[in-house]
Amino acid sequence: MISNIIDGRESAQILKNNIKKEVSILKNQHDISPKIAVLLVGDDQASNIYVSAKEKQAKEVGIDSIKIKLNKNITQNDLILEIKKLNIDDSINAILVQLPLPKHIDPNEIIFSIDPKKDVDGFHIENVGKLTIGGYNKNKNSIIIPCTALGCAHLIEKIEKNISGKNILIIGSSNIVGMPLSRLLMAKKATVTIANSATKNLKFLCQNSEIIISATGVVNLITKDMVNKNHIIIDVGINRINLKDGKTKLVGDVDFDNIYPIVRAITPVPGGVGPMTIAYLLKNCLELFKNQNNIDIVTKYER
Ligand code: NAD
Repeated sequence: MISNIIDGRESAQILKNNIKKEVSILKNQHDISPKIAVLLVGDDQASNIYVSAKEKQAKEVGIDSIKIKLNKNITQNDLILEIKKLNIDDSINAILVQLPLPKHIDPNEIIFSIDPKKDVDGFHIENVGKLTIGGYNKNKNSIIIPCTALGCAHLIEKIEKNISGKNILIIGSSNIVGMPLSRLLMAKKATVTIANSATKNLKFLCQNSEIIISATGVVNLITKDMVNKNHIIIDVGINRINLKDGKTKLVGDVDFDNIYPIVRAITPVPGGVGPMTIAYLLKNCLELFKNQNNIDIVTKYER
């Protein structure tokens, strides 16, 4: 890899090696392993690919998983009933409902029906609240934070160990990425600006930041004229574009080819934030398992 390109695959592999080690210690000490249930509603091709990748990587680190495939016409109430069964099933430590859901189902109703103690994505209002007010940890359990936000913070800290006082621009304010990431970075004393589709002066905001995280799904939103040699750029966007030869290609939000020669560090798409998101999903699954079994830190993680 070119030296200023942040290798997300490598960092994800290091994290997964640590998780695997911890899962194996727990198995030896207590003869138990974490188990995740993944609910997949309908036949969305991209969702199928994501779920298969999650299952495969869970297996690699010793986490058990079950996939529950549900018809795209399932009612919201029936889906909630499926989740409630998993909430009271002691053999399941983590529940993931693959998004997006069919239009007739309200994703918030589904997310809020998951027991917050099994909410591996960290999207439940109770977990969002704990992250938002910061440091609330009555039972000394780890707080479950959305995986993509954890992955972005990890990759930033690979380049800049101490982000206290840094000017960070997050573009995109969704509950999945921008919002939790802003709370996470603010807790580390960064000065965070959040832009969205109504923001008027994006170029100015980019030029006046030190770290840019783009999570919009807009191709080429960040161009050469917006960045400088001091910038760290984290590209969360995943966009499939059509090429002239009829093939397709995955790209992020950033005009990567024209920007990587200029900036201090940048994540590629694919191979940047994506692998970190899955690695942190597995880490969250392990944290839920430890919280439920009152198990403390088992091993120190290498970076
Ligand atoms: P979303 O649609 O919920 O939110 C998009 C955000 O971008 C909104 O806040 C919107 O206001 C903002 N936005 C849109 N156009 C903009 C513009 N022109 N200027 C500034 N802001 C703009 O999407 P999401 O779920 O947060 O996902 C965003 C992107 O990140 C998508 O491409 C998605 O596929 C990708 N994603 C990647 C990972 C990963 O692991 N790599 C994980 C989650 C999402």
